[in-house]
Amino acid sequence: MLTICHAIFKFYVFLRTNFVKNTMDLLIPDKTHDEGRQGEALLLEPVAGKNNGRKLYIESYGCAMNFSDSEIVASILQEKGFETTQDFTNADVVLINTCSIRENAEQRVRNRLKEFTVAKVKNPGMVVGVLGCMAERLKSKFLEEEKLVDVVVGPDAYRDLPGLIDRVDDGQKAVNVLLSREETYADISPVRLNSNGINAFVSIMRGCDNMCSFCVVPFTRGRERSREPLSIVAECTDLFNRGYREVTLLGQNVDSYKWNPEKQDNKAEEQKPVMGMDLLEKVLSSGEDLGETQDQALEEVKEGVTFANLLEMVAQISPELRVRFSTSHPKDITDDVLYTMKAYDNICKYIHLPVQSGNTRVLKLMNRTYSRDWYIDRIEAIRRIIPECAISTDVITGFCSETEEEHQDTLSMMDYVQYYFAYMFMYSERPGTLAAKRYADDIPEAVKHQRLKEVVAKQQEHSHLRLKQLVGTTQKVLIEGFSKKSDKDYSGRSDQNTVVVFPVGEGYNPGQYVNVFIERCTTATMIGTVIPQTP
Ligand code: SAM
Ligand code: SF4
Repeated sequence: MLTICHAIFKFYVFLRTNFVKNTMDLLIPDKTHDEGRQGEALLLEPVAGKNNGRKLYIESYGCAMNFSDSEIVASILQEKGFETTQDFTNADVVLINTCSIRENAEQRVRNRLKEFTVAKVKNPGMVVGVLGCMAERLKSKFLEEEKLVDVVVGPDAYRDLPGLIDRVDDGQKAVNVLLSREETYADISPVRLNSNGINAFVSIMRGCDNMCSFCVVPFTRGRERSREPLSIVAECTDLFNRGYREVTLLGQNVDSYKWNPEKQDNKAEEQKPVMGMDLLEKVLSSGEDLGETQDQALEEVKEGVTFANLLEMVAQISPELRVRFSTSHPKDITDDVLYTMKAYDNICKYIHLPVQSGNTRVLKLMNRTYSRDWYIDRIEAIRRIIPECAISTDVITGFCSETEEEHQDTLSMMDYVQYYFAYMFMYSERPGTLAAKRYADDIPEAVKHQRLKEVVAKQQEHSHLRLKQLVGTTQKVLIEGFSKKSDKDYSGRSDQNTVVVFPVGEGYNPGQYVNVFIERCTTATMIGTVIPQTP
């Protein structure tokens, strides 16, 4: 009986995680929004001589940008003597880095805060802080709505955290949700300790200027600003020297990355990022030789740097360093970027190009600023310049006034592109967005859900089809660790971002590249064997 109950419970959990929520991240090895990492606590190695005896617990939700921000926060507080813990019940400061993108993301955080309340009753001195997008959206209202919260800090105010915690220690509540036009945390090297030591995310810009009508990001993360390029090259070089073999350059719209050295002179003194020369010199003085990269990087910085230039600068660090990026915007992705991808073997042939809808009227309502034809033109350009490139996407179903025919246009767009992966969502109205102000959220939940189901079924078909096309080919795979199912197998990802599993063997280890012959596939994974390298 117990076994049957257990099986039913497991099936229920499976259904809930896979079908009942309004987000479906299907078959996605792309880690930019990894369901498996939601709520993950960050752990740093203690720094000798720094610890002041206070313990920090920090957990994160949402996209990779948030996880990357938590590393910045942890670095700032570690400088002030905090040591991290993975047990919130014994922490002095508990921080939760939040996501506002859909309503269920916020609900998840509210539920988690209830668990912190119980811990705080036992440990009344505990400081509880809310960071990130929910903090920015709700501001001081958070303090009224969630009585246990002591500190509310928006994404551009993390440098102020030590001071805000001091204020709480003095018996006050503290809020800083000021958005900045300059802050990029360029000079803070995040500490990455519970990563696998192979893949790292590097933020290249913050904020977004696009104002898609459904999206809360421009309100919670502020205006778009690009991080100084040499600080990015320096961080990636440092990661490579510490053994990392893959960097993913992160931004809400990486194609509009633009560094203009002249514009930086206008900044307030205290907000000026550490200039690239300083950082470059720091890397060089630690014994690194960037060779031609250094000269070229310096030249390019003087001229002003586009995303295509930046991609090239990072790719030149070493042919052994894989470079990925996310997210591309269909209105901004240029042929220059595609040609740069083509020119460097170590820039992965994979583009995440969110379509959202396949219908021009809906795209207009969404304020995406491209049409169906424009999107198709970009797909054609990718196919022409990089025929082997894998493409993935984001889709929203049931946006305001979307008709059945318009939904069919999304399905037909999916048929046309045959995406490798997709993140699929039901539209969730977010307070304060253009859509919430202008349009009625008038598609019944059941219809949104039905459309989502159809989109998911279609994507499942295409993901499987894409993997089947790779059976019988040889793929270069970066080994990331043991497979989830067995420590007799390694798991890694191909250039096109698909998961590849193969037997552990002599002579190759995590962090190394191997050529794997693909023998078969499941709906989400390619399975193969390593082709021994000829000496
Ligand atoms: N900047 C990226 C872009 O433009 O594609 C993505 C940013 S957003 C964090 C990730 C995805 O969440 C979006 O592409 C969209 O599909 C989805 N999303 C954003 N707001 C949403 C909403 N209100 N309801 C449902 N899905 C939403
Ligand atoms: Fe949101 Fe659009 Fe900006 Fe992406 S590009 S973060 S969807 S406003």
